[in-house]
Amino acid sequence: MTVPFTSPLAEAVASDVLERFLRYVRVDTQSARDRTGSPSTPGQLHLSRMLVEELAAIGLDDAALDENGYVTATLPSTSGDRDPVVGLIAHVDTSPDAPGAGVEPIVHRGYEGGVVKLPREGTVLDPDSMPLLAGRAGHDIVSASGDTLLGADDKAGVAEIMAAVAHLAAHPDLPRPTLRVCFTPDEEVGEGATLFDIERFGALGAYTLDGSDLGELQDETFAAKEAIVTIEGVDVHPGFAKGKLVNAARLAARVIAALPSDTLTPETTEGREGYLHPYELEATPLKARLRVLLRDFDDDVLAEHEQLLRRTAEEVVAAEPRARLEIEVTDQYPNMRSYLEPYPEIVAAAQRAIEAEGIEVLHRPIRGGTDGSVLSARGLPTPNVFAGGHEFHSVREWVSVQDMAAAAAVVVRLAGEWARGDGDRDG
Ligand SMILES: [Zn+2]
Repeated sequence: MTVPFTSPLAEAVASDVLERFLRYVRVDTQSARDRTGSPSTPGQLHLSRMLVEELAAIGLDDAALDENGYVTATLPSTSGDRDPVVGLIAHVDTSPDAPGAGVEPIVHRGYEGGVVKLPREGTVLDPDSMPLLAGRAGHDIVSASGDTLLGADDKAGVAEIMAAVAHLAAHPDLPRPTLRVCFTPDEEVGEGATLFDIERFGALGAYTLDGSDLGELQDETFAAKEAIVTIEGVDVHPGFAKGKLVNAARLAARVIAALPSDTLTPETTEGREGYLHPYELEATPLKARLRVLLRDFDDDVLAEHEQLLRRTAEEVVAAEPRARLEIEVTDQYPNMRSYLEPYPEIVAAAQRAIEAEGIEVLHRPIRGGTDGSVLSARGLPTPNVFAGGHEFHSVREWVSVQDMAAAAAVVVRLAGEWARGDGDRDG
């Protein structure tokens, strides 16, 4: 079966993308919540140092790792210093939501369709429940071994940027603006953009390669808050507890049970619908701590989700006067749309680059956030481009080599779009 590359350019960069990807996913870069420093885990620095060395080897002499674990490097323009400076961003960390140490990637060459059985834990990739996998017959598919995530989120993006930059550096005849590369830590715990030095980065706009399906171009994300609901009970030896014990664990369970379950949940919503998602509960009779994600594309509706949670928790806990309730809500990231609208040329250039690769552009709002959500709000307009991975944050995560190669080719073409100076940009 012929292997369906999107273009000769994609085919030319494919083996470099794959080699890099297989090298990066073996490094355990899982990030951790409630970090006390940046990055949250030392494994991320192992990969970041590796990337600094590889960038220098490609010829990006200023490649460096800053004190917070951000890798930056510059590929200068080939066509003069009047060219704009454009950023390329991906994150090195992987999600804390599935095991991330000891990743052993497997390349399934020329996937024939059908169920893929992975060697560990009985994990299977089943095209019946993964329609996008069903559409990848003939592709080379990369998965983990069944007991860990793969880390295509976002090492696919890292490998694609690296391969694209290497290709551009090796082909100075290809037009390009000045490209600034940044690999960020701790995106998965919502901190990827926190310590990003936008001023020093110096780009007029940037692109994260952190999307999923071939052709995705995203300029809208959820707006996101996290609520931490803390309930304090009264703990007494259960043998002598009659009339005295107030069980915080039981109260927390009641709060979860009282939240909507047939609507406003991740498992019952799609498209532009938001949700309340209780995702972590630590509980003893004495103290319960429940973490809830609040998500919507509309700020007013997001505020309603927060009110619903507050009302629900207050009503449940009010039934037990000896229990104490505290609710703390923090902003996680904003919807990037309003910050990108003043700079239509940034999304337009990516659109042209994807089309030039012969791929249909999929404009889909992201049911999640990216580094670009916060970066856009902070003044670096940053839409998100597909990186090719699927089933993120799970042991079934997979990516097509052909799709990764297509993404790398899109980056090469994007450089060409910005270098052309065809007068349709304001910056
Ligand atoms: Zn990601």
